[in-house]
This record gives sequence, structure tokens and C-alpha cells, in this order.
Amino acid sequence: MSQTHEFQAEVKQVLDIVIHSLYTDREIFIRELVSNAADAMEKMRLTQLTEKDIFDAAAELQISITTDEAARTLTIADTGIGMTRAELVENLGTIAHSGSKAFAAALKNAGKQNDAQLIGQFGVGFYSAFMVADKVEVHTHSWRNEGEHLVWTSDGASSYTIDESVDQKRGCKIVLHLKEDAADFAKQHTVKQIIEKHSNFVSFPLLLNGERVNTVEALWLKSKDGITDEQYNEFYKFTAHAFDDPSYRLHFQAESPIAINALLFTPTQNMESFGMGQMEPGVALYCKKVLIDPKPKKLLPEWMRFVRGVIDSEDLPLNISRESMQDSALVRKIGDVVVKRLIKHLDKEASDDAKKYNEFYASFSRFFKEGVATDHTNRDSIAKLLRFESSMTQTGETVGLADYVKRMTSEQKAIYYQVAPSRAAIESGPYLEAFKAKGIEVLYMFETIDEYVVSSLNKFDDKDLKSVNAHDIDLGDSDAEGEALPEAETTTLCDWIKERLTASVDTVRPGKRLVGSPALVLTPEGEMTPQMRQMMKALGKDGGMPGPKVVFEINPRHNLVKGLSKLHLTDPETAGLISEQILDNALLSAGLLDEPQRIIERTQKLMEKLAAS
Ligand code: ADP
Ligand code: MG
Repeated sequence: MSQTHEFQAEVKQVLDIVIHSLYTDREIFIRELVSNAADAMEKMRLTQLTEKDIFDAAAELQISITTDEAARTLTIADTGIGMTRAELVENLGTIAHSGSKAFAAALKNAGKQNDAQLIGQFGVGFYSAFMVADKVEVHTHSWRNEGEHLVWTSDGASSYTIDESVDQKRGCKIVLHLKEDAADFAKQHTVKQIIEKHSNFVSFPLLLNGERVNTVEALWLKSKDGITDEQYNEFYKFTAHAFDDPSYRLHFQAESPIAINALLFTPTQNMESFGMGQMEPGVALYCKKVLIDPKPKKLLPEWMRFVRGVIDSEDLPLNISRESMQDSALVRKIGDVVVKRLIKHLDKEASDDAKKYNEFYASFSRFFKEGVATDHTNRDSIAKLLRFESSMTQTGETVGLADYVKRMTSEQKAIYYQVAPSRAAIESGPYLEAFKAKGIEVLYMFETIDEYVVSSLNKFDDKDLKSVNAHDIDLGDSDAEGEALPEAETTTLCDWIKERLTASVDTVRPGKRLVGSPALVLTPEGEMTPQMRQMMKALGKDGGMPGPKVVFEINPRHNLVKGLSKLHLTDPETAGLISEQILDNALLSAGLLDEPQRIIERTQKLMEKLAAS
């Protein structure tokens, strides 16, 4: 019985672009279909380990490609898990799978003119067949014994049909009826070249018109000297299902304490930033070329989920199951060794070519920050990979913590930082001045999670990390800028202000570290920092916390403060309003002002007074 189904709307959108706007790089459809076939057989291999009742159990795991120039067809057949009727609808009629999903997500964010380029970046999985074919048949039988022989057929327009098929084999056989302008793909030598270029790494036999074509099976076991950049890149794309080039790669062999062959890559594009949700682990675990787990969860720490590649260890027992693998001490050991090597490698690459690393870091900083916050074992070495702008860099340039430490002045006790939304916010605020005056570098952190990252880190190279608005920073008196208010008058003024503003301030004291601003507020000991408060608020967890009582430091050298010292004796009402306003300005700079509208009312009053006098 024949059934016709409509494609899901997103699929139609993808197909429309595939069919109508893409004419370059068409050959990648072969890689897509071969990689699907290899995936299906990998799944079959794992299914065979646990299931007894398997259809066509004797079928050998291999991919057969056949070309027929006369009929202008290309056929790709595998003996993988195949698909049931429901799976056909789910997998080939909707976008639920990774490749096309990424593409559809990116499509939403990009303008029309970038469509074709996007396909180059993402590939579109199975649907790429329609770049070259005007009719595609998928003959299939699932590994499940009760499954049916089915054939899925479509011209890629808006619908597909599912019929019963006469085919008797397990797996999928995909027949492409090639468009006239794609007749080349029915030629044996064309197809052979493409397979050699893109699909040499399939770990199952790949036959073209009956002859075995793939040779290189385990690139990671070969010596580095015999491998070209292009081979590495193709390997990355094939195994990681990636469409970008890798940014860094690490290929190493270790003998002790454990025998390890590892080939690892970091991508150029961060797929999580396309709104695709969390990536799965991407470093596969092998034992002597036999795949044990394509996505092992406990091999590398979670923050390393953006890393792709292969780890092979002949010390692993071959019959290790995926479940027991997760708890194996040996696997953890392997992971430890590899993590350390990779961090060290990135650190070295970063110092060899800072510009390249900066670009990489811009896309992947999140993972390193997550690493510092969650990976206790490697925290200190991951911290070396962090980068921040600072008071000594230009906009967009960054510095690492190790470089910061090298530049520290001899009296400097801590590593100083400020978390604020932007460079401008930090540089126009009151905190930076004193540090600048003393020639002390301050790191600029622009993300709310940075606060959390530095508090997890706590120290780097034995030096405390300190926010510039901590209450206990003593930079020593700054002898800049003019004469200060005498001490007695300053004390009187502080006491008076404290009384006036007692609801919002914990302490009022003369500040030593102010240069050009009249005042600043500091977080008292034991209080949450402003950034922490913001984070709690964003999470809806501040539970209507009262604003914190702050430490209010006034600048006895500032004209406004000197004026206030006289005014509060003659016109306490106006002096009161001015004090409140100075405090609100300082709170605003610290990101602590909860009710900015009260400023309007007060400045109104002050202006009225000014206009009347
Ligand atoms: P992806 O490979 O990223 O999941 P594709 O568009 O390439 O996306 O494939 C869609 C889905 O169709 C696959 O996830 C798989 O479930 C199914 N599929 C495709 N080709 C085969 C095949 N040869 N055998 C079994 N299932 C397949
Ligand atoms: Mg695919």
C-alpha cells in the first residue's frame, strides 16, 4: 500500500535552498550519504553485541557503491540498522537530526544571500542528495525481524511516498536518479576520486563497483610525518561530522603510564552558539582500532565537549562494555593524561600565535570558564587559557593571567579586576582611577559569569584575585591632586553624612584611592558583590533582598566634598540632597542602584533651589 506524506515545513525550506541555490561543492553529498551509512553500521555493530534476534544477521558490514552511466544513477547500499516505517517518517521527513538542524538554526539568523554559503558550512545531511538528484529512492529493512521491506521515494519538492519494496536485505540502499547536469556522478572515476578525498576514513569496507577503495583506516596510529594537513582536515570533517576546518590539532603517542594514541581537534565554529543546545562529547574511544564508544561521557570532563577526535588505548580490555567503561579507573586515567596534554598544547599555541588564539578564544571562552568553575583538578592550568581586556590593552586586545602576573609591580599584592558590562562603564567609573594613578593593571571582565569564574579560581600563581570594589584594598595614600580637607572637618562631615544616610550606608569614611571622583561605594565584608546580586536577581533568587548597606568613601580632595563640608553647617537641607545624590551616582557606577527614578525627583528639587537662589 502506498502512502504519501508531506515534508515538515523546515524540511521544505532546506530542500528549496538545496535544489535551487546551490551549485558549488555539490560533491559533498557523497560524504554525507557515506557517513550516514557508516553511522548506521556502527549502530548495527553495537546492536549485535546486545540483541539476539536480528534480521539478515549474516550480512557483512560493508558499504557498496555502484555507478550506472547508462541509467544515470548512483547507488549507495549499506548493511546497517535500516529504518522502520515510523523511522523513515521521523528521520527523512522532519528535522530532528543534527546536521540539518544546525543548518536550519543558522538559516534563521542569516540573511537570504548567505544561504548557499551556509550550506557549505553545515552540509545538510541526507537532503544534500537533492543537489544532484531529481528523484531519490531509499530501499530499507530495519534490523528488527518484524520490520517491513520499504521504499521511500521523493523528488524533493513537497512530499514523499512510502511503498512496500521487493528488496530483501537489511540496511539502506539509496538510489539517486541524477539530474542531467550531474551525470558525472554516475562515472566510476569521478566517484572514486571523491571517495578517496572525503571518505577514506570509513572504518568499514567501502566497495566501488565491487572493488575495495578505502585504505587508510586508523590515521591516529600512523606517524605524524606521513600525514598531510589536508588528510588531517578531511579526517576531522569526516569523524566529527564537521563542516569547518579545525582550529588546532594535537596528535600524540604516549607509552607510559598508559599506552595512548590520540588525535584531537578543536573546531573553528562553536556550534553551541548557534542556539543548538549542549554538544555531546566528541572524542571517541577506541581499543586497537575497534570503536568502544563514539561519545563516551566520562572520558573527558564535560567542559571539553567541544573537542573532537579519537583516543585509542591498547591497554583497554577489548570486551569492555560501554556501561563498565564509564566507571573504569583506567578510562579516567586516560582522560586525565589527555586533558593535561591538550591544555598544555593550547597554552603553547596561544603563546606562539596570540592573534590566532584570540580569535579562537572569542568563540570558545565559555568552555574554559566552565572548566575553571567545574574542573577542580585542572582549574589552575585552565586558568592560563583565560583572556581578558585590561587597563593596559587596547579595545579588543587581551591579556592572560600569566602575562598579568609578569607585569605586576613589586609592591602589588593581588590581581585586580572589575566586572562591568563594558569597557566604557569601567573607564568612566570611579574605581579605576587610583589603580591607574599607581600604574597597576586592572583586568576588565564583561560577563556576569566572570564573577563566578574568578571566585571559583580565587588565586592564580599564589596571588589573590580581588575585585576593585572590595572594601579592604589599600593602595597607600595617593599624593596627587591638591590639598585635602583637614582631618577633623573630614571626620565631622563623615559623621554627619552617616547620620543622614543611615538607611543605606554601613560606614562613611575618607577614601585614599580616589583621584578625580567625589566618592565611591565598596562592598562591605561578607556582602555579595554587585555582580553576584545581579546574577541572583536574573535567576529570580534575590527574594526582594533589601539593597545592601555599602561602605561609602568620600574624597577629601574633591571640591564638591570640600564645599559640602561648609554647606552642611549653613544649609543642611541642600547638603542632605547633595549627599544623597553623590551616593546614588556612586551606586550607579557600581551597578547597585535599584531605583533610578528617585534621582529624577531629587535633581528636580536641587534645580528648583538653584533657580530660586
Ligand atoms: P544526521 O546524519 O546529521 O543525523 P542526516 O540528514 O544525514 O542527519 O540523516 C538523517 C537521519 O536519517 C539520520 O540521523 C538517520 O537516523 C537516518 N538515516 C540516514 N541515512 C541512513 C542509513 N543509511 N541507514 C539508517 N538510517 C539512516
Ligand atoms: Mg548525516
